[in-house]
Amino acid sequence: MKIDISTIIKNVGKSIHVREKIPAKQFKNEEFKLAEGSFVDVDLTFSNLGTIITVKGSIEADLILNCSRCLIEYPYHLSVFIEEDFYNQSNLVADYIEEKQLDSNDLRTVYYSGEAIDLFDMVRENILVNIPIKPVCNEACKGICPQCGRNLNEEDCRCRNEKIDLRLEVLKKLLPDEDKSK
Ligand SMILES: [Zn+2]
Ligand SMILES: [Zn+2]
Repeated sequence: MKIDISTIIKNVGKSIHVREKIPAKQFKNEEFKLAEGSFVDVDLTFSNLGTIITVKGSIEADLILNCSRCLIEYPYHLSVFIEEDFYNQSNLVADYIEEKQLDSNDLRTVYYSGEAIDLFDMVRENILVNIPIKPVCNEACKGICPQCGRNLNEEDCRCRNEKIDLRLEVLKKLLPDEDKSK
């Protein structure tokens, strides 16, 4: 999905407004999962400010994440606010992309080549870098017991209690005999 920015590249002060609803099913084999039947909402304005093209707006997506504590899937609404600049030197940038290895610091040059911006790439990269590193289904999520593997949000287990009891036993043994008699 390319956004043709040739008209704004040539006209300083010109801008275009892009509003797209991209169906989730168009994002296949991604490193993230979108809610089935949802849409990625794109609302961006590209403006030519002379030496730079600016992009401002938002990308919103309904993701399905895995909780880092209890591992269950849960829905997560992602809102990304974008404010980026591209150098308005189309040919230079295109040459640069071919020589350069892709890495996260070069995202903004990657989806801008020649006189078009790859909206799809731009959306994908912006979703990827904004997904929480340690997602939690709920701040109060108790996670999974490392010993018996039970989901502690659904049921309690006795592992932790047993561990505490054990520690008490050890402590008692460490106390001098006179203390025990009190
Ligand atoms: Zn959880
Ligand atoms: Zn347990």
